[in-house]
Amino acid sequence: MPIPRCGLGFDVHAFADGRPLVLGGVTVPYPQGLAGHSDADVLTHAVIDALLGAAGLGDIGLHFPDSDARWKGADSLHLLAAVRDMLTAGDCEVIHIDTVLMAQKPRVGPYRSAMQRNLAEALGVPADRINIKATTTEGLGFVGRVEGIAAQAVATVVRKGTP
Ligand code: MG
Repeated sequence: MPIPRCGLGFDVHAFADGRPLVLGGVTVPYPQGLAGHSDADVLTHAVIDALLGAAGLGDIGLHFPDSDARWKGADSLHLLAAVRDMLTAGDCEVIHIDTVLMAQKPRVGPYRSAMQRNLAEALGVPADRINIKATTTEGLGFVGRVEGIAAQAVATVVRKGTP
């Protein structure tokens, strides 16, 4: 039985005017979105980094640099699907992903299952392999001041055919 590997992802994006708020591929109704080169989907970015970490494949900036015009305004679910292809090429299977979305505003609970579905679909895994948790920071720090949103993820991956 191959030994599972665990990867960690963390990301932060600042709120910005005139942008849609995209979290886990869901456009959440809110007066502001997040600043970033791509769609600034902070949750999906954390998941990507967790997966790349578990597979030993570096980080999101290595594969999708924000200096590259190809990723300007990119749908982060497409980036996640590209990571899925990298994992498949490396014979890696996603066992489970757990996440924490840290946002004082807006409340994201109503969108959680849609985010779970989007991430699972992009990765080609059953939805029950993805877990999404959300928390405020009780008004503390940059999240609490509603300056931005942060996300953390851990991914468990096994490389088939390795001891
Ligand atoms: Mg990011």
